Amino acid sequence: MIRLYNTLTKSIDPFAPLRDDGVRMYSCGPTVYDVAHIGNMRAFLFPDVLQRTLRVIGGYPVRWVMNVTDIDDKTIRDSSVGSTRWRAEMGEQTSDPMENLRRFTSFFTREFLADLQTFGIEVDRMTNPRATDYITQMQELTRDILAAGYAYVSDGSVYFNVAAYSANHTYGRLFAIDTQNFREGVRIDADEYDRESVSDFVLWKGRKDGEPSWDFEIDGQNVPGRPGWHIECSAMSQNLLGLPFDIHTGGVDLRFPHHEDELAQCTAGYHVHDQASFWMHNEFLEVEGKKMSKSLGNFYTMRDLIARGIEPIDVRFAMLQAHYRAVFNFTFDGVTAARTARAKVQDYVYDVVDVAGSLHASASDGVGQQLIDTVGQALADDVHTPRALAALFVFMNEHPARALTPADAASVVDALRVVNEVFAVIAIEERPTLVVPDDIRALAEERWAARAAKNWSESDRLRDMLSASGWTMKDGKDGYTLESAK
Ligand SMILES: [Zn+2]
Repeated sequence: MIRLYNTLTKSIDPFAPLRDDGVRMYSCGPTVYDVAHIGNMRAFLFPDVLQRTLRVIGGYPVRWVMNVTDIDDKTIRDSSVGSTRWRAEMGEQTSDPMENLRRFTSFFTREFLADLQTFGIEVDRMTNPRATDYITQMQELTRDILAAGYAYVSDGSVYFNVAAYSANHTYGRLFAIDTQNFREGVRIDADEYDRESVSDFVLWKGRKDGEPSWDFEIDGQNVPGRPGWHIECSAMSQNLLGLPFDIHTGGVDLRFPHHEDELAQCTAGYHVHDQASFWMHNEFLEVEGKKMSKSLGNFYTMRDLIARGIEPIDVRFAMLQAHYRAVFNFTFDGVTAARTARAKVQDYVYDVVDVAGSLHASASDGVGQQLIDTVGQALADDVHTPRALAALFVFMNEHPARALTPADAASVVDALRVVNEVFAVIAIEERPTLVVPDDIRALAEERWAARAAKNWSESDRLRDMLSASGWTMKDGKDGYTLESAK
């Protein structure tokens, strides 16, 4: 039984899909105007681990949609003529703002998804609808909201009428909104605003010069323009998953206004009480205990970290050590520690495979089941990845590889494969055979001879030469072993 924290009920509730053909899950995706930073990585790691948990531990098929916001203030700004963010790979800029937007966002969509993939996020399992492919559906929803009496046209834009909606429904189901702050009759065009600015929000923004726009007939008039951000997710989730679906995910910053507005639009236009039965929100990331920001000089993209020699998979491991509802503090020391811990697990895998004698000796029973049970229990408890990883280490300590029988080792290989379907931090394979280059082997032989002759200074000099080449020489009683630092 999987239990998940639901922002809608403010409690940890037992989870079961609404339909018996599996779980339908919608994740608010990236706005594609840049490459991914590590805050994005944390935000998208959560739905990835969640869908893996539902599939592997829950046994449910999962339909996973993550939208791509390719039309908003930022993508329009950065794709416009004269933008310094235009890159040669996007081709030439044209005089058509729509074509420029398409080239700009197609480039960053590809880059963004590639970044997610290096981070072990199962991009192949998601559908990534682009907002600009659902304009008609967003317009239909806007008309439906107007027909229901919860919207109005003003100055060429369409707004959601919060006061009219609140008369019949609750506005503030996900996020406690102080109605004292409601500014009746005030309209807000920005997609992002704080709780002090509760007012009528935009469903459709009237056209501005030089911006991409679509014609829109509503209420007997044509108001060319483009959709607001919130309506994008309401329309795409309804069209791709049907309402209500099972799980809606996003960062805590999306609870208000984005998710509250999505939910209100669905209730108003699609006449459903719930857009989704579970709403799940993951916490932020900090860097060295501070908010990540360009002005503090602690802002990192995934590519910045790779350039520093950090492997994305070690960052994934580090992030899994924090629960998704806790703030994750990214530190370089933390990543180094995660690298060591991950290497320990990988080493255990190699040893267990060695004892089992084969990668694919199928073992239906054996001690491996204990690993699946303990890790599975932690994951089933609101996706508690830190406890799940701890359970893996406890198991490794209690069942040293060399103490296992080949049959038990085979069951542990199978179990590691299962838990790694969720963690995705190790490779279930045989220990790679080390190829030692001839010159390194010669240096090692020379050092071994110097050591035998008790020529310590020469021995130290040769050891330093080896380590400068990326090799560690470990001395044993009757011989030595060489390890590559890579
Ligand atoms: Zn969204």
